[in-house]
Amino acid sequence: MNTEILSVDDGIEKAKEILLSGGIVAMPTETVYGLAADGTNPEAVKKIFEVKGRPSDNPLIAHVHNDYDINKLVVVKHDYIYKLIKAFMPGPLTLVMESKGVVCKEAVAGGDTLAVRMPSHRGCQALLRAVNLPLVAPSANLSKHTSPVSAEHVFCDLNGKIPLILDGGRCSGGIESTVLDVTEKVPRILRAGLITKEMIESVAGGCDIAEHKEGDKVRSPGVKYRHYRPKCDTALFDITETDKADALYVAEVKKGRTPYIMCSDDVADKFAGKNLLLLGKSGEEIAYNLYDKLLEGEKKADIIIAVSFGREDGVYLGIMNRLRKSCG
Ligand code: AMP
Ligand code: MG
Repeated sequence: MNTEILSVDDGIEKAKEILLSGGIVAMPTETVYGLAADGTNPEAVKKIFEVKGRPSDNPLIAHVHNDYDINKLVVVKHDYIYKLIKAFMPGPLTLVMESKGVVCKEAVAGGDTLAVRMPSHRGCQALLRAVNLPLVAPSANLSKHTSPVSAEHVFCDLNGKIPLILDGGRCSGGIESTVLDVTEKVPRILRAGLITKEMIESVAGGCDIAEHKEGDKVRSPGVKYRHYRPKCDTALFDITETDKADALYVAEVKKGRTPYIMCSDDVADKFAGKNLLLLGKSGEEIAYNLYDKLLEGEKKADIIIAVSFGREDGVYLGIMNRLRKSCG
């Protein structure tokens, strides 16, 4: 199969045609690129799992446009949900609610809940509006590999496997959406992201975190799999262990290998003169750069030696979740 890359503006009609006839298309969003299918078409949805090599028990997120009535898809049980929608949608927040069954069971791994998101990316909105259907999509990478934040990244993983990639430029967010279970009285973060616990609390009055409770039943099946891994070797050090990261770097060079240190700008001076993948200064910058630098690193390096940031509040919770899974 020939994989075409078209700008969103030029490719939207073709994408619509493919999607409405049961095919799959890669689309930009503000978080990462997604691999989309008509969520009401089981045969189309199965193609996503086949192409990615994704385990069938890992459900997909349904993406809808701004004016789509989500009451068609899910049961909105609590008042705080409307406040969250008003505050954060469209944007990088995904809400898990009881499904009404419009999106097929293949997309939700046979479960009774559906995850719904309204992406803010202009091109993605235009596509969703054109098809006026819930498009289910996971990230547009091969299963377990680092998520793509550009059309080129998608092409590297899926060339020859899908007919079309819509190029909407570099994703502005850089890590996947916050997945929030809103089936209970208090919302619960299943996957951390750019909409933080603090932001949710300020709107909904409370917010729990599911991923971090030891021994808890995993509610979001995706979190149990190895994820986001670059193709090279990796190591992860705490910010207090820069000397150990340095020692590993030196040992790798002695073996004739090419190491790269991946760290924030704040600790870069500790690795002066070494190969660096710099992530930036703020949490937003680090999220924006993380996957891009991992994918740059896997091309150049035998090993990426990552150094963490010394904090796990706000956006850093989502960043550290990705960093541990990709490099830990
Ligand atoms: P991906 O876009 O590949 O990161 O996959 C979407 C992620 O959303 C999955 O890995 C799940 O963790 C989460 N998700 C999707 N649907 C549900 C659902 N119904 N219940 C809980 N988590 C979900
Ligand atoms: Mg993914």
